[in-house]
Amino acid sequence: MAKGMFSLDGCAALVTGASRGIGAAIARALAEAGADVAVHGNATSPEETCEAVRASGGKAVAVVADMADPQAPDRLVVETVASLGGLDIVVNNAGIIRRGPTVSTSDEDWAAVIDVNLNGVFRLCRAAGRHLLETGRGGKIINIASLLSFQGGLNVPAYAASKSAIAGLTRELSNEWAVEGINVNAIAPGYFRTDNTEALQKDEARSRHILDRIPAGRWGEPSDVGGAAVFLASRASDYVNGQILAVDGGWLGR
Ligand code: NAP
Repeated sequence: MAKGMFSLDGCAALVTGASRGIGAAIARALAEAGADVAVHGNATSPEETCEAVRASGGKAVAVVADMADPQAPDRLVVETVASLGGLDIVVNNAGIIRRGPTVSTSDEDWAAVIDVNLNGVFRLCRAAGRHLLETGRGGKIINIASLLSFQGGLNVPAYAASKSAIAGLTRELSNEWAVEGINVNAIAPGYFRTDNTEALQKDEARSRHILDRIPAGRWGEPSDVGGAAVFLASRASDYVNGQILAVDGGWLGR
Protein backbone atom coordinates (compact mmCIF):
# COMPACT_ATOMS: atom_id res chain seq x y z
CA MET A 1 0.00 0.00 0.00
CA ALA A 2 1.46 3.36 -1.05
CA LYS A 3 1.96 5.95 1.67
CA GLY A 4 1.63 9.73 1.86
CA MET A 5 1.51 11.63 -1.38
CA PHE A 6 1.43 8.45 -3.47
CA SER A 7 -1.50 6.91 -1.60
CA LEU A 8 -4.70 6.33 -3.58
CA ASP A 9 -6.73 5.34 -0.52
CA GLY A 10 -10.36 6.32 -0.99
CA CYS A 11 -9.95 6.96 -4.73
CA ALA A 12 -12.09 5.38 -7.45
CA ALA A 13 -10.42 4.64 -10.78
CA LEU A 14 -11.63 3.54 -14.20
CA VAL A 15 -9.03 1.79 -16.37
CA THR A 16 -9.98 0.94 -19.95
CA GLY A 17 -8.45 -2.07 -21.69
CA ALA A 18 -7.58 -3.56 -18.31
CA SER A 19 -8.50 -7.12 -19.27
CA ARG A 20 -4.88 -7.78 -20.32
CA GLY A 21 -1.52 -6.20 -21.12
CA ILE A 22 -0.52 -2.74 -19.91
CA GLY A 23 -4.03 -1.82 -18.72
CA ALA A 24 -4.21 -4.87 -16.46
CA ALA A 25 -0.86 -3.94 -14.92
CA ILE A 26 -2.01 -0.34 -14.37
CA ALA A 27 -5.22 -1.51 -12.67
CA ARG A 28 -3.15 -3.72 -10.37
CA ALA A 29 -0.71 -0.92 -9.54
CA LEU A 30 -3.50 1.55 -8.74
CA ALA A 31 -5.13 -1.04 -6.47
CA GLU A 32 -1.82 -1.73 -4.71
CA ALA A 33 -1.65 2.03 -4.02
CA GLY A 34 -5.11 1.85 -2.43
CA ALA A 35 -7.61 2.59 -5.21
CA ASP A 36 -10.90 0.87 -5.98
CA VAL A 37 -11.01 0.05 -9.69
CA ALA A 38 -13.61 -0.29 -12.42
CA VAL A 39 -11.82 -2.77 -14.67
CA HIS A 40 -12.85 -2.38 -18.28
CA GLY A 41 -12.63 -5.02 -20.99
CA ASN A 42 -14.31 -5.77 -24.29
CA ALA A 43 -13.61 -9.13 -25.94
CA THR A 44 -11.57 -10.49 -23.02
CA SER A 45 -13.08 -10.99 -19.57
CA PRO A 46 -11.76 -8.46 -17.03
CA GLU A 47 -12.37 -10.94 -14.18
CA GLU A 48 -8.73 -12.00 -13.72
CA THR A 49 -7.71 -8.37 -13.23
CA CYS A 50 -10.67 -7.86 -10.88
CA GLU A 51 -9.41 -10.75 -8.75
CA ALA A 52 -5.93 -9.18 -8.58
CA VAL A 53 -7.44 -5.84 -7.51
CA ARG A 54 -9.45 -7.57 -4.78
CA ALA A 55 -6.34 -9.45 -3.64
CA SER A 56 -4.75 -6.03 -3.03
CA GLY A 57 -7.66 -5.12 -0.77
CA GLY A 58 -9.44 -2.87 -3.25
CA LYS A 59 -12.98 -3.03 -4.52
CA ALA A 60 -13.22 -4.14 -8.15
CA VAL A 61 -16.06 -4.03 -10.62
CA ALA A 62 -15.94 -5.34 -14.19
CA VAL A 63 -17.28 -3.02 -16.89
CA VAL A 64 -17.63 -4.08 -20.51
CA ALA A 65 -17.83 -1.89 -23.60
CA ASP A 66 -16.58 -1.51 -27.15
CA MET A 67 -14.70 1.79 -27.05
CA ALA A 68 -15.61 2.36 -30.69
CA ASP A 69 -19.25 2.65 -29.59
CA PRO A 70 -20.03 6.38 -29.24
CA GLN A 71 -22.39 5.64 -26.31
CA ALA A 72 -19.86 3.60 -24.33
CA PRO A 73 -17.81 6.33 -22.57
CA ASP A 74 -20.80 8.08 -20.95
CA ARG A 75 -22.13 4.71 -19.80
CA LEU A 76 -18.75 3.69 -18.33
CA VAL A 77 -18.63 6.85 -16.22
CA VAL A 78 -22.20 6.32 -14.99
CA GLU A 79 -21.50 2.64 -14.16
CA THR A 80 -18.26 3.43 -12.35
CA VAL A 81 -19.83 6.15 -10.22
CA ALA A 82 -22.80 3.90 -9.43
CA SER A 83 -20.70 0.92 -8.38
CA LEU A 84 -17.68 2.59 -6.74
CA GLY A 85 -19.45 5.65 -5.33
CA GLY A 86 -17.39 8.12 -7.35
CA LEU A 87 -14.74 8.59 -10.01
CA ASP A 88 -11.41 10.31 -9.36
CA ILE A 89 -8.98 8.70 -11.82
CA VAL A 90 -9.48 7.73 -15.46
CA VAL A 91 -6.88 5.81 -17.43
CA ASN A 92 -7.56 5.79 -21.17
CA ASN A 93 -5.55 2.71 -22.06
CA ALA A 94 -7.64 0.62 -24.51
CA GLY A 95 -6.02 0.70 -27.92
CA ILE A 96 -5.48 -1.25 -31.12
CA ILE A 97 -2.93 -1.30 -33.90
CA ARG A 98 -3.21 -2.32 -37.58
CA ARG A 99 0.12 -2.90 -39.27
CA GLY A 100 0.77 -2.44 -42.99
CA PRO A 101 2.04 0.09 -45.50
CA THR A 102 -0.14 3.10 -46.20
CA VAL A 103 -0.91 2.03 -49.79
CA SER A 104 -2.61 -1.11 -48.52
CA THR A 105 -4.33 0.45 -45.52
CA SER A 106 -8.10 0.31 -46.07
CA ASP A 107 -10.55 2.98 -44.95
CA GLU A 108 -11.92 0.35 -42.54
CA ASP A 109 -8.52 -0.23 -40.89
CA TRP A 110 -7.94 3.51 -40.62
CA ALA A 111 -11.37 4.11 -39.11
CA ALA A 112 -11.12 1.19 -36.67
CA VAL A 113 -7.89 2.50 -35.17
CA ILE A 114 -9.02 6.13 -35.04
CA ASP A 115 -12.37 5.12 -33.49
CA VAL A 116 -10.82 3.26 -30.55
CA ASN A 117 -7.51 5.10 -30.08
CA LEU A 118 -8.73 8.66 -30.59
CA ASN A 119 -12.52 9.05 -30.76
CA GLY A 120 -13.10 6.75 -27.78
CA VAL A 121 -10.42 8.53 -25.77
CA PHE A 122 -11.86 11.96 -26.60
CA ARG A 123 -15.36 10.83 -25.57
CA LEU A 124 -14.19 9.28 -22.30
CA CYS A 125 -12.14 12.40 -21.46
CA ARG A 126 -15.24 14.49 -22.17
CA ALA A 127 -17.51 12.28 -20.06
CA ALA A 128 -15.00 12.15 -17.19
CA GLY A 129 -14.36 15.89 -17.46
CA ARG A 130 -18.07 16.66 -17.17
CA HIS A 131 -18.31 14.46 -14.07
CA LEU A 132 -15.17 15.86 -12.43
CA LEU A 133 -16.18 19.47 -13.13
CA GLU A 134 -19.58 18.78 -11.61
CA THR A 135 -18.13 17.35 -8.41
CA GLY A 136 -15.66 20.26 -8.17
CA ARG A 137 -13.18 17.96 -6.41
CA GLY A 138 -10.68 17.69 -9.26
CA GLY A 139 -9.23 14.44 -10.50
CA LYS A 140 -6.67 12.75 -12.69
CA ILE A 141 -6.93 11.77 -16.34
CA ILE A 142 -4.12 9.67 -17.76
CA ASN A 143 -4.06 8.90 -21.48
CA ILE A 144 -1.85 6.16 -22.84
CA ALA A 145 0.17 7.63 -25.67
CA SER A 146 3.14 5.98 -27.41
CA LEU A 147 6.62 6.61 -28.75
CA LEU A 148 4.63 7.33 -31.90
CA SER A 149 3.32 10.44 -30.16
CA PHE A 150 6.89 11.70 -30.78
CA GLN A 151 8.04 9.66 -33.79
CA GLY A 152 6.51 8.46 -37.04
CA GLY A 153 6.98 4.72 -36.75
CA LEU A 154 6.84 2.43 -39.78
CA ASN A 155 3.84 0.83 -41.49
CA VAL A 156 1.41 1.99 -38.81
CA PRO A 157 -0.11 5.18 -40.31
CA ALA A 158 -3.40 5.20 -38.39
CA TYR A 159 -1.74 4.24 -35.12
CA ALA A 160 0.92 6.96 -35.46
CA ALA A 161 -1.74 9.54 -36.32
CA SER A 162 -3.93 8.48 -33.39
CA LYS A 163 -1.12 8.55 -30.83
CA SER A 164 0.23 11.90 -32.03
CA ALA A 165 -3.31 13.23 -31.67
CA ILE A 166 -3.46 11.87 -28.12
CA ALA A 167 -0.47 14.04 -27.22
CA GLY A 168 -2.24 17.12 -28.60
CA LEU A 169 -5.54 16.25 -26.94
CA THR A 170 -3.79 15.70 -23.60
CA ARG A 171 -2.16 19.13 -23.74
CA GLU A 172 -5.37 20.84 -24.87
CA LEU A 173 -7.48 19.31 -22.10
CA SER A 174 -4.79 20.14 -19.58
CA ASN A 175 -4.98 23.79 -20.63
CA GLU A 176 -8.76 23.76 -20.11
CA TRP A 177 -8.92 21.89 -16.84
CA ALA A 178 -5.67 22.44 -14.88
CA VAL A 179 -7.24 25.42 -13.11
CA GLU A 180 -10.11 23.16 -12.01
CA GLY A 181 -7.72 20.77 -10.28
CA ILE A 182 -8.02 18.18 -13.01
CA ASN A 183 -4.61 16.93 -14.09
CA VAL A 184 -4.52 15.60 -17.64
CA ASN A 185 -1.29 13.82 -18.53
CA ALA A 186 -0.18 10.90 -20.68
CA ILE A 187 2.20 7.99 -20.43
CA ALA A 188 4.12 7.00 -23.54
CA PRO A 189 5.23 3.39 -23.18
CA GLY A 190 8.23 2.26 -25.20
CA TYR A 191 8.39 -1.27 -26.57
CA PHE A 192 6.48 -3.59 -24.25
CA ARG A 193 5.93 -7.33 -24.37
CA THR A 194 2.18 -7.52 -24.98
CA ASP A 195 -0.19 -8.79 -27.68
CA ASN A 196 0.06 -5.33 -29.31
CA THR A 197 3.71 -5.93 -30.26
CA GLU A 198 3.46 -9.65 -31.04
CA ALA A 199 4.34 -9.13 -34.73
CA LEU A 200 7.47 -7.17 -33.81
CA GLN A 201 8.54 -9.71 -31.20
CA LYS A 202 8.21 -12.50 -33.78
CA ASP A 203 10.22 -10.59 -36.41
CA GLU A 204 13.77 -11.49 -35.34
CA ALA A 205 15.53 -8.73 -37.26
CA ARG A 206 13.17 -5.94 -36.09
CA SER A 207 13.14 -7.28 -32.58
CA ARG A 208 16.97 -7.20 -32.44
CA HIS A 209 17.15 -3.69 -33.94
CA ILE A 210 14.64 -2.46 -31.37
CA LEU A 211 16.49 -4.07 -28.47
CA ASP A 212 19.81 -2.62 -29.68
CA ARG A 213 18.40 0.90 -29.33
CA ILE A 214 16.96 0.52 -25.83
CA PRO A 215 19.52 1.84 -23.32
CA ALA A 216 17.98 -0.25 -20.54
CA GLY A 217 18.86 -3.34 -22.58
CA ARG A 218 15.45 -4.99 -22.43
CA TRP A 219 11.86 -4.64 -23.61
CA GLY A 220 9.36 -3.27 -21.11
CA GLU A 221 7.12 -5.55 -19.09
CA PRO A 222 3.56 -4.32 -18.39
CA SER A 223 4.36 -3.86 -14.69
CA ASP A 224 7.03 -1.28 -15.67
CA VAL A 225 4.23 1.24 -16.31
CA GLY A 226 2.71 0.87 -12.83
CA GLY A 227 4.87 3.41 -11.01
CA ALA A 228 4.28 6.17 -13.56
CA ALA A 229 0.54 5.50 -13.43
CA VAL A 230 0.44 5.72 -9.62
CA PHE A 231 2.49 8.93 -9.74
CA LEU A 232 0.16 10.58 -12.26
CA ALA A 233 -2.93 9.33 -10.38
CA SER A 234 -1.77 10.59 -6.98
CA ARG A 235 -1.28 13.88 -5.15
CA ALA A 236 2.41 13.57 -5.98
CA SER A 237 1.63 14.92 -9.47
CA ASP A 238 -0.74 17.74 -8.47
CA TYR A 239 1.46 20.34 -10.24
CA VAL A 240 2.19 18.17 -13.30
CA ASN A 241 -0.02 19.14 -16.22
CA GLY A 242 -0.11 18.30 -19.90
CA GLN A 243 2.97 16.08 -19.84
CA ILE A 244 3.66 13.06 -21.99
CA LEU A 245 5.80 10.88 -19.71
CA ALA A 246 7.87 8.37 -21.65
CA VAL A 247 8.40 5.03 -19.92
CA ASP A 248 10.69 3.60 -22.53
CA GLY A 249 13.94 2.31 -21.02
CA GLY A 250 15.63 5.40 -22.46
CA TRP A 251 14.61 4.93 -26.12
CA LEU A 252 13.79 8.60 -26.82
CA GLY A 253 17.09 9.76 -25.38
CA ARG A 254 19.05 7.94 -28.07
P1 NAP B 1 -3.01 -5.32 -25.70
O1 NAP B 1 -2.29 -6.29 -24.86
O2 NAP B 1 -3.32 -5.65 -27.11
O3 NAP B 1 -4.35 -4.90 -24.92
C1 NAP B 1 -5.25 -4.03 -25.52
C2 NAP B 1 -6.39 -3.72 -24.57
O4 NAP B 1 -7.28 -2.83 -25.25
C3 NAP B 1 -7.17 -4.96 -24.19
O5 NAP B 1 -7.52 -4.90 -22.84
C4 NAP B 1 -8.41 -4.87 -25.07
O6 NAP B 1 -9.57 -5.39 -24.44
C5 NAP B 1 -8.59 -3.38 -25.23
N1 NAP B 1 -9.32 -3.09 -26.46
C6 NAP B 1 -8.95 -3.34 -27.74
N2 NAP B 1 -9.91 -2.98 -28.60
C7 NAP B 1 -10.94 -2.51 -27.84
C8 NAP B 1 -12.23 -1.99 -28.15
N3 NAP B 1 -12.67 -1.88 -29.40
N4 NAP B 1 -13.00 -1.59 -27.12
C9 NAP B 1 -12.57 -1.70 -25.86
N5 NAP B 1 -11.38 -2.18 -25.51
C10 NAP B 1 -10.57 -2.58 -26.49
O7 NAP B 1 -2.21 -3.95 -25.81
P2 NAP B 1 -1.22 -3.22 -24.82
O8 NAP B 1 0.14 -3.33 -25.37
O9 NAP B 1 -1.47 -3.59 -23.41
O10 NAP B 1 -1.67 -1.71 -25.10
C11 NAP B 1 -2.35 -0.92 -24.16
C12 NAP B 1 -2.17 0.53 -24.58
O11 NAP B 1 -0.79 0.85 -24.59
C13 NAP B 1 -2.68 0.83 -25.98
O12 NAP B 1 -3.27 2.11 -26.02
C14 NAP B 1 -1.41 0.79 -26.81
O13 NAP B 1 -1.52 1.55 -27.98
C15 NAP B 1 -0.44 1.40 -25.82
N6 NAP B 1 0.96 1.13 -26.12
C16 NAP B 1 1.45 -0.13 -26.12
C17 NAP B 1 2.81 -0.32 -26.38
C18 NAP B 1 3.44 -1.68 -26.39
O14 NAP B 1 4.64 -1.78 -26.68
N7 NAP B 1 2.75 -2.75 -26.06
C19 NAP B 1 3.63 0.76 -26.66
C20 NAP B 1 3.08 2.03 -26.66
C21 NAP B 1 1.75 2.21 -26.38
P3 NAP B 1 -10.25 -6.80 -24.84
O15 NAP B 1 -9.15 -7.80 -25.05
O16 NAP B 1 -11.11 -7.08 -23.65
O17 NAP B 1 -11.05 -6.53 -26.08
